[in-house]
Amino acid sequence: MKRSTPSAQIVCIFFNLFVCIIASHVSNAQDLAPEQNKFTVIKAKGLIDVRNGRLIEQAVIHILNGKIERAGSNLEIPVGATVINLSDKYLLPGLIDAHTHLCHEYQYELEKVPGANIVVETAVIDNATRALIGVRNARDMINSGYTTVRDLGNSGVNADIALRDAINKNWIPGPRVFASTRAISPIGGQFTRMPDDVRRELVQREYVEISGVEEARRAVKEAIYDGADCIKIIVNNDRMCLNQEELNAIVEEAHKANLKVAAHATNGDGPSLMAIKAGVNSIEHGYTLSSDVLKLMAAQGVYLVPTDRTGVERYQQRIKRALAANVKIAFGSDMYFLDAQRNRGQVTVSTYRSYIEAGMNNIQILQSATMNPGILIAGEGKVGLLEKGYFADIIALDKNPLTNIEAIENVVFVMKEGKVIFVDRSTNYSK
Ligand SMILES: [Zn+2]
Repeated sequence: MKRSTPSAQIVCIFFNLFVCIIASHVSNAQDLAPEQNKFTVIKAKGLIDVRNGRLIEQAVIHILNGKIERAGSNLEIPVGATVINLSDKYLLPGLIDAHTHLCHEYQYELEKVPGANIVVETAVIDNATRALIGVRNARDMINSGYTTVRDLGNSGVNADIALRDAINKNWIPGPRVFASTRAISPIGGQFTRMPDDVRRELVQREYVEISGVEEARRAVKEAIYDGADCIKIIVNNDRMCLNQEELNAIVEEAHKANLKVAAHATNGDGPSLMAIKAGVNSIEHGYTLSSDVLKLMAAQGVYLVPTDRTGVERYQQRIKRALAANVKIAFGSDMYFLDAQRNRGQVTVSTYRSYIEAGMNNIQILQSATMNPGILIAGEGKVGLLEKGYFADIIALDKNPLTNIEAIENVVFVMKEGKVIFVDRSTNYSK
């Protein structure tokens, strides 16, 4: 027998290893094939084509491996498919909240002392409890139809990351979370004035304070290390404001790492203008933005995340100016108060009423609730539409929301990534 050289033996060993690996992959693929390639089909009275603002009747959606394969009217049912029959319901993409704080909860009664809520929350409630508050809120959010959220800070030190990861591992139900970790802020974060030693201790449990370009870059790098999916900045708070060089550095570092930047900006046009100039992806709040700034946002593709309450005239006027300027509006609840009567999901979904009040029509509201925040948060082709290739994040309503927008406050069925998460007891639902 011809004795092979050492290098030939090594080649032989690698070849055998390669064959083994391929064989094990093939057998795994065969084992998994029936489940992986099994279609789930949802039939419904209609589905809302949010992109084009139209109803598709006799709707059928084919779902494979957690994603939408086809969606349309009267499609055939693939052989062997699991069929979910919602024949008297209307389907919408899962709702998206582009600005929430799942691990953050204030109590109304503490408001009597200005600034008390944030001090009590930060000093008294530990990170583990913050994460558990998030568990409850995540469950309530998905049961109200929210399949994706962007969580923008105020989670203590990275409770948002723990929550996101627990949901991703299927330990607990909840929306897909895009988490920011601690917000990057001027000195003091969003706290009122405190003794210096207390400030130094408390603020860092909630914000990363920066002063100067190097600290700005470092804060983004820390967020990346901590697992952030996006960056949240507090452009201004009271008299404190990040400067242009700091903002430029933050956005540059974030975009290098493919992270989008959400900019909290209030107090007229100034802070927003600096943030837009730096290249942020969304302005959060922007309560009184002028038409000139809104036109600039439209031209540069910067989204407005309004976070409005009902009954405030200046918010309504700002929405009207934003619509006239063609700014893309992404829904953001900014919900973080404990409500004695309603859970976090119920309170969040009710904030659409401020959009109705400001004169947005039903399709504009539906686009702000699904398609627009989907693109802002996750980029094109992932979440926020019922089209081929999108995650099968699907909710069902009793009424057509194109004509009855209030129907979104009563979600009766929720699917996330092809898995049924919630079915209202009254829903006539047969598999
Ligand atoms: Zn907020």
